[in-house]
Amino acid sequence: MYQGDIIFFNDMITDNPIKLVYNKGEQPSQQKSVGRTSSYWPDNIVFYEIDALLPDQARVTDAISHWEANTAVKFVQRSGESNYVYFTPGSGCSSCVGMVGGRQNITLASGCSTGNTIHEIGHAVGLWHEQSRVDRDSYVTINFENIASGAEHNFRTYEESGYDGDEFTSTLDFGSIMMYSSYSFSNNGQSTIVKLDGSTYSAQRSGLSTDDKAGIDSMYPGETGGGGTVSPPPTEPEPTPTEPEPTNPEPTNPEPTYINGEYYTIAGLTVLRKKDKWLYKKDRGGWQEVELIDGTWYNVN
Ligand SMILES: [Zn+2]
Repeated sequence: MYQGDIIFFNDMITDNPIKLVYNKGEQPSQQKSVGRTSSYWPDNIVFYEIDALLPDQARVTDAISHWEANTAVKFVQRSGESNYVYFTPGSGCSSCVGMVGGRQNITLASGCSTGNTIHEIGHAVGLWHEQSRVDRDSYVTINFENIASGAEHNFRTYEESGYDGDEFTSTLDFGSIMMYSSYSFSNNGQSTIVKLDGSTYSAQRSGLSTDDKAGIDSMYPGETGGGGTVSPPPTEPEPTPTEPEPTNPEPTNPEPTYINGEYYTIAGLTVLRKKDKWLYKKDRGGWQEVELIDGTWYNVN
């Protein structure tokens, strides 16, 4: 399977009626969407539980702190509620979109950072990927010829995938934490999403953007910073992500061709192209094969 199972588990819950990822040949269902227009969490409260087996649980608590400091969404540890988010280890970073009922998993592989967790929580409260906006063709060009086989569905609009939704900001936000990078799901190291002028852009997985917050405020209006009777100071600083995702450098060539034996710096990491794979030199020496997924490098085992 190309690039292992991460692609097919990214944003995917196999046991769930709401799917964002499909196997090749499978037709997307035409069911009612939960994204952005319905299936919000009532009273702005997301109940959650953390799997005791999940490593580095600060990723979750830091991400929750970020959401609570910047939005009116509150996160409450579950005590018997039937609808809740369950943070658990998995093969990639994944989530359902919106509240789907019952237990819904957010899976976090070891490579998923605090920023990735903020992104997955975005899905769980109802956000699609930013490049899935219905009007995205007014802002970006999708280079389908560079997309890994089987990953094309990640580049459809939610409407094309059979879901409904809504846009809460007037323009596509390249700075959204829900925006894919220019090289997401590339099969050849070349760009999959570019601006209309052909240029690439930097994606971020550090925190909610100004427009992210504006959209979420429309979906979950209320007092930012916990709301209710508990009012933490609104100036509460955002937590520093433990693993901020490096942004993509501006490429010197908009359509780079990678040559075996050459070094490149992509997404903050200096990597060696060898036999059409990527390697980087570990601190203690030795080489590790890696792959770039959604703007983040992952180890290949
Ligand atoms: Zn996502």
